[in-house]
Amino acid sequence: MPTHPPRACPVCRRLSCSDAAHQKRVDDWRARRARRPYNHPERTYKAEQVKAWVLEHGWVCPGDEYHAAHSSGDLTFDHEVPVSLGGDPLGPGRVVCRSANSRRGNGRRRRGSA
Ligand SMILES: [Zn+2]
Ligand SMILES: [Zn+2]
Repeated sequence: MPTHPPRACPVCRRLSCSDAAHQKRVDDWRARRARRPYNHPERTYKAEQVKAWVLEHGWVCPGDEYHAAHSSGDLTFDHEVPVSLGGDPLGPGRVVCRSANSRRGNGRRRRGSA
């Protein structure tokens, strides 16, 4: 018996798709995702940075130019030079809350010119 609810085929959106070509495409997607190199050193490194920060300071976001320090259970490591801009994935950075990190995005852009 099925352990999962029926899932729509992501290719044709039909609930019960028996098109082998579609199945193959889905398998390819899965394989590609599993192969993504992102997982390893960078993710571990970031997790370690957050862990070290929490050990020392607790679950606290130090704040940034947009918001003051506050307690946060959702901390992440923010690279000084974003990896997407060619920064070292294991390079320096700091711990901030995830919302501050995503608010800033990867572009290091500053809103307004204060
Ligand atoms: Zn399909
Ligand atoms: Zn914050």
